[in-house]
Amino acid sequence: MNPETEPGSKPTPTARFEALFEAIAHAIAVFDDNLELVSANPRYYELTGTSSEDARGRSVYDAFPNAQADLTEQIDSAVHGAPVIALPVTFQNPTGPRVVEATFVPIPADSGQRGLIFAGNDITEREHLRQDLAGSVAQLETIFDVIPDSVRVVDADGNTLRTNSQAQTDHAPNTPTTLRELWQLDRPRTLDGTSLFVHEHPTARALRGERVRGERLEVRRGPDGSMIIDVNANPLYDEQGRIRGAVTVERDVTFRTQLQQQLEQEARRTAELYERVSTEAERLERMVQERTQEVLALQEARSRERRLAAVGQLAAGVMHDVNNALNPIMAAAYLLETNAENPAAVRDYAVRIAKAAETGAATAARVGRFIRQEPMKGVGEELVDLVAVCDEVVAMTRPLWAERARGGTIQLDRQMAPRAVIRGIPGEIREALLNLVQNALDAMHVGGTLGIVTRTRNGEVALEVRDTGIGMSDEVRERAFEPFFTTKGQAGTGLGLAEVYGIVRRHRGRAEIESAPGKGTTIRLLFPEGADQAAATPAAAPARRLPRRVLLVEDHPDSREFMQALLESDGHTVAAVTTVQDAMTRLGDGGETPYDVLVTDIGLPDGSGWDLVTHARNRWPDLRIGVVTGWEPRGNTGATDFLLRKPVRTSDLLAQVASGANITLAH
Ligand code: ADP
Ligand code: MG
Repeated sequence: MNPETEPGSKPTPTARFEALFEAIAHAIAVFDDNLELVSANPRYYELTGTSSEDARGRSVYDAFPNAQADLTEQIDSAVHGAPVIALPVTFQNPTGPRVVEATFVPIPADSGQRGLIFAGNDITEREHLRQDLAGSVAQLETIFDVIPDSVRVVDADGNTLRTNSQAQTDHAPNTPTTLRELWQLDRPRTLDGTSLFVHEHPTARALRGERVRGERLEVRRGPDGSMIIDVNANPLYDEQGRIRGAVTVERDVTFRTQLQQQLEQEARRTAELYERVSTEAERLERMVQERTQEVLALQEARSRERRLAAVGQLAAGVMHDVNNALNPIMAAAYLLETNAENPAAVRDYAVRIAKAAETGAATAARVGRFIRQEPMKGVGEELVDLVAVCDEVVAMTRPLWAERARGGTIQLDRQMAPRAVIRGIPGEIREALLNLVQNALDAMHVGGTLGIVTRTRNGEVALEVRDTGIGMSDEVRERAFEPFFTTKGQAGTGLGLAEVYGIVRRHRGRAEIESAPGKGTTIRLLFPEGADQAAATPAAAPARRLPRRVLLVEDHPDSREFMQALLESDGHTVAAVTTVQDAMTRLGDGGETPYDVLVTDIGLPDGSGWDLVTHARNRWPDLRIGVVTGWEPRGNTGATDFLLRKPVRTSDLLAQVASGANITLAH
């Protein structure tokens, strides 16, 4: 391009200048003293969209056809030698608008001005960057304002440089400009109440290079004049690492802190409450235990009292009945003595004595039945049809109902399960039912309904007697089964239900009372169902009476003579002895014994009747052996065929001696 440049030789200054002219990033155009273009570099042609051919010789005023601004003024002031001013000018260009810093420089010469130089510096990219930056800054400022925390930027001396709108609101209408002013307004304190010195303010600490994090302070701000804030502060450094200020960010945590405090308080209170409740529960439990103990002790004391009372009643009742029996006997005995010569009177007194004795014996028997709750050995149990027993009792008592109920009309309500069969003693069941019916009638003064019900369920047979009578109070219901407990005064014995109870127990059953005053009474007896549902077997035919050879052992003369006379009057042969020894001798010591029946007392002068029973049973298995005693039998009862209690009923003795059947009669 340069004709003066020889290969291998040093380039001339002109050549060097031209190379620079070509390579420089600026657009350059040189105008002569006529202000016509004499030379320009490729950048200029690019910028102006011209070529070297059509540009050369153009006037400076026409040299920038695509400039978007009028450059005339600028050119003129350069022509007049004014100072150089760079102006940004937009050039329209096919690749888009270009922003160029346009400078016109006069070319000075000794003889005066010799033209102008245009220098165009393309600042399009820089301009874009500047705009972007301005946009970013504006965005950041919006964000800065929008965040709900209060942000304050201070310089190294603590003077406020910037605040966001929250920071301004926080102190409105004041605008603290220094850290000291801020501190005076806020009077910051820690949450435990310690006031902060100004140099302890988080901003002051950040200005000393500390990063402050999560400091909780109470300040005088907000509608209530008190606000709890969470403070973070950071130092700001310049490029040399020197502190040139600080940023402090504060968050209002009043509500949150209060909430937290409330929650903590609530939790504390709940814990306290729990503590209190559990001690209370313990106290209650202890109380309940103590009360339970007391009640149990009371119950036990009461039941002991009851038992004692029952025993007392029993004794009193027995005494009363025995006295009743003894009185006529004593009277009759006295009269007998005085009227010994008069046979009619003697017979009469004898009858009275026998009657009175029988009454006494009956009382003793009832008491005995009550005391002895186990069935006596050998008592034959059979299948008992409760329906039959019920009908029998009803038939037997019906004519007396009106009288017993003192004139009231009694209806019968009969509900019978067809197969109410139990194992037991028919006589006892009959007696129990009779007692219940009597009580029911007693309770219905003005008439009512007598219900008799049998029912089978779950292997149990129930026998119920219901009435619509006066009913029982709680106390009466609890004590009704006690012997001699009665509410009927002289008219009652108090033995009816006690007997019922004993009978039920002997039959492995139980008794229940449902009753309330004025509501009538239901007494229910529950028995285990009879193993066999077949109808009750008819009673065995009475045994045929044969004369027997009887050995009677009894030391008491009256008793011995009485029994001997009785047995002989019934056709038997009787040998009577008074000791065990005599009896053994009579029975013989080998082979056959000359007797069919041995009847012995227990308390004998030379030993116990039981020894005799055991001896005889071992020797002669077929010998019929019977015991007659005034005491509860407590010996080898298994070896006997019958047991009779004194006073002996004549018919019982005769039946047992004559009978071959192995039964024992209680009274
Ligand atoms: P007694 O009939 O001689 O009084 P009990 O042993 O038969 O003796 O009865 C005891 C008490 O139970 C009776 O005095 C009565 O107070 C009460 N009692 C029994 N059965 C009934 C009933 N059906 N209705 C109301 N009270 C009854
Ligand atoms: Mg009664």
